[in-house]
Amino acid sequence: MLMAEKFENIKLFWDRLLSVFSVFTLTDLVDIALVAFVIFSAIKMLKETRGIQIVKGLLVVGALYFVINLLDMHASSFLFKTILSDFIIVLIILFSPEIRHALETMGRRNFAFFNFFGAQQGDSMYERKKAAVLEVCKACTEMSDKKIGALIVFERETMVGDVIKTGTVIDAKVNRDHIESIFFPNSPLHDGGLVIRDGRAYAAGCILPLTDKDMLATHLGTRHRAALGITEKSDAVAVVVSEETGKISVAHAGTLHRGVSDGVLMEKLFSYVLPQHDNAAKGIISSKISKIIKKIKGENKK
Ligand code: ATP
Ligand code: MG
Repeated sequence: MLMAEKFENIKLFWDRLLSVFSVFTLTDLVDIALVAFVIFSAIKMLKETRGIQIVKGLLVVGALYFVINLLDMHASSFLFKTILSDFIIVLIILFSPEIRHALETMGRRNFAFFNFFGAQQGDSMYERKKAAVLEVCKACTEMSDKKIGALIVFERETMVGDVIKTGTVIDAKVNRDHIESIFFPNSPLHDGGLVIRDGRAYAAGCILPLTDKDMLATHLGTRHRAALGITEKSDAVAVVVSEETGKISVAHAGTLHRGVSDGVLMEKLFSYVLPQHDNAAKGIISSKISKIIKKIKGENKK
């Protein structure tokens, strides 16, 4: 009897499952895929930004609200309900930088998608970006030896138009000598950062947002804080040459790698700036990197 009941239940469950699938349309499938994609993208994006801290905070608030409701605490429950009544607006305000980032990124990707000459342009863009990385590495090695302070930002998916607006647009080919002359002390554009967009030296003298991390070493000044700041607010990569020590640092995703060697600088820039050709870049790195560095050093000694 017990066995028969079990079979009956399983059959009932199976029938219900089938009835769900029988009304399941293609639109539902697309709907689920879309929601899954949005959730996956949101988690991926939040993981790379400070947004994940806000999500953790919201989870704590949610858990607190659950406990308060469970214990029937009227006053606290009223307070929570009042504060969270416009939850969507609160979320939009809290995540406005992340939402902006997502829309900017989406806009850039779509533009690339509709570009019919994409493949051809992609190759020349890759070459231009590669050349820009090499010129920046050469310039940094030289400025490091001479202790010339510099701050160079490679824009990636997130457009940093707000930062560019604060500087002077030059839109020039990236060239070691030009970079050095930009950062040469007392030159008109030596203060602030140089933004490289799509492999071109796009704007100089740009003011970057400073990081709000308090635990940074106290001897790190505003140049390093600015490098970190831009990588927290966008997916850009920033290179700093310290005027005080001559050390080269690379910032990415809110992390500063200090005192990197020429080889590590090149390796990091190749992998961050040319991600779509990651394997090709790795190939270059493993086979040619030491050759390139030796050449740069040789040229610098001349
Ligand atoms: P260094 O090791 O080169 O001394 P630092 O991190 O100690 O660097 P500061 O000594 O404060 O930094 O460097 C000041 C310079 O950093 C300024 O002259 C300016 O060129 C640059 N700088 C400061 N703030 C910003 C900013 N918000 N955006 C871009 N550049 C900045
Ligand atoms: Mg300083």
